[in-house]
Amino acid sequence: MRTRFPGRSLGHVVVMGGSVAGLLAAYAVSHRADRVTVLERDRCEDDPAPRAGVPQSRHTHVLLTSGMMALDDLLPGLMSTLRDAGAPCLDVPADLGVWQAGQWVLRDNPSAPVVTASRPLVEHVIRRRVLAEERITVLVGTEATGFLGDSHHIRGVSSRARGAGSRGRCDIEADLVIDATGRGSHTPEWLAELGADVPAEDVLETGRAYATGVFHADGSGRAGRLRGFYIVPDAAQPFGAIVLPAENDRIMVTLSGPRGGAPPLDPDGFVEFAGRLPHDAPHRWLGTARPVGRPVGYRHTANRRRRYDSALRDRTGLLVVGDALCAFNPVYGQGLSVAAMNAVALRRELDRTDRIPSAWRLQRTLLRSARSAWDVATGADSPMPGAVGSARRTGPVDGAVNWYLERVRAHVPGDPAVCSAFRDVLFLLAPPSSLLTSQRVLRRSLLHPVIPTPAEPSPHRGAPDRGAPAPRTTS
Ligand SMILES: Cc1cc2nc3c(=O)[nH]c(=O)nc-3n(C[C@H](O)[C@H](O)[C@H](O)COP(=O)(O)OP(=O)(O)OC[C@H]3O[C@@H](n4cnc5c(N)ncnc54)[C@H](O)[C@@H]3O)c2cc1C
Repeated sequence: MRTRFPGRSLGHVVVMGGSVAGLLAAYAVSHRADRVTVLERDRCEDDPAPRAGVPQSRHTHVLLTSGMMALDDLLPGLMSTLRDAGAPCLDVPADLGVWQAGQWVLRDNPSAPVVTASRPLVEHVIRRRVLAEERITVLVGTEATGFLGDSHHIRGVSSRARGAGSRGRCDIEADLVIDATGRGSHTPEWLAELGADVPAEDVLETGRAYATGVFHADGSGRAGRLRGFYIVPDAAQPFGAIVLPAENDRIMVTLSGPRGGAPPLDPDGFVEFAGRLPHDAPHRWLGTARPVGRPVGYRHTANRRRRYDSALRDRTGLLVVGDALCAFNPVYGQGLSVAAMNAVALRRELDRTDRIPSAWRLQRTLLRSARSAWDVATGADSPMPGAVGSARRTGPVDGAVNWYLERVRAHVPGDPAVCSAFRDVLFLLAPPSSLLTSQRVLRRSLLHPVIPTPAEPSPHRGAPDRGAPAPRTTS
């Protein structure tokens, strides 16, 4: 009952949603499928551009080191294509003013790379590469509207051409359907319509709200220069900021505030809001920068994980990936990297044997590949004031772990060993448990005093620092 794939092939795979997670999943299964059809509701532009189906595409995005490695593993050479297309690559913390636990992190601490291209550019480069695979076809302007099949076996998808009314309805048979429709996925409702079990949900919501504005820069991000800021919110101070370069000499600025404290969306109010940050360096910089257009807001920031691993136990023909499976508070910059790690895990599981594994086994693999990111996001959000939801950790052991992690965070700015161990966890290169098992981190965090760091972002030893990212002062 659990393995209904035709022979050693997945047969015809239909992927709902042609964004990053959908495209990568389509590629990951393509070598074991006869053909893959991707249904995308939007009509995607030929050039990188924000689109309605991906409202977060106007917000700052970071691709973590783990995500860069996963993308290059799945699609070798993709990172150099992205860099050739203008994507900035930064070393963290060497290139950034990172404020954590009341101090600037020393920029001489060990660094790891991140890519800070806009979300549309990342998706564009991935789409071009994935669609070069001849077994994959995308039907744009096509919206999935429900499942074909019964409570035990999904046999395809009903769809409609956008704007064509009821005449545009089309049923598409499939041996496997992959849901990659993002946070707003309707799979739980569509399963309920078939009389099937719906997945339980783990949720943790802090009510954090975002606003992002775009500013011009003069492109002079020379070695040694501070290229942006990352002000990390925590339980003691709730305001956050990410100031990062994107392609085409733009600087993306995302500000965030706690429940009831959303950043304003008018340009003056947006800049004024930066005055609430725990250090005035980003506010000073914003005061001299030239904005491009009005800031945009975003409020759906809950961590939400759907337990399809249990709900799919006796069901075939369906997998769920990306934000539709596990969506994170964006402040930790994980979603793109997890989409890539989902796809690598899926491909590896398919490559393990000649036989196609059951949908349940594949789904468990997918969930496991998102596990560290989930633990990082919910671990950091649990102690936030106003955090609510079933995934909030409130037991006595959690209290002790939170106390210890506060000690670790306090040591990050001035202690290179603690900084690199913590960075590896944040960048999804090591599991969060490594902070509890490393003798070195335990000893330094518990027994050593916190090392104070300078009151302004420290210069990097490699070259003289010239201050904050340079804004363009003429139009
Ligand atoms: C404010 C914000 C900031 C973020 N910052 C970061 C960051 O710094 N780093 C990072 O790694 N991640 C970040 N993320 C998360 C990241 O954007 C997502 O994890 C990533 O885009 C992968 O999402 P996805 O492909 O699963 O879904 P999405 O990108 O949301 O795409 C879903 C796709 O499905 C399509 N679709 C929806 N319904 C249907 C349907 N019925 N039929 C057909 N198509 C459909 C949509 O049009 C869309 O193309 C951020 C998210 C937010 C909200």
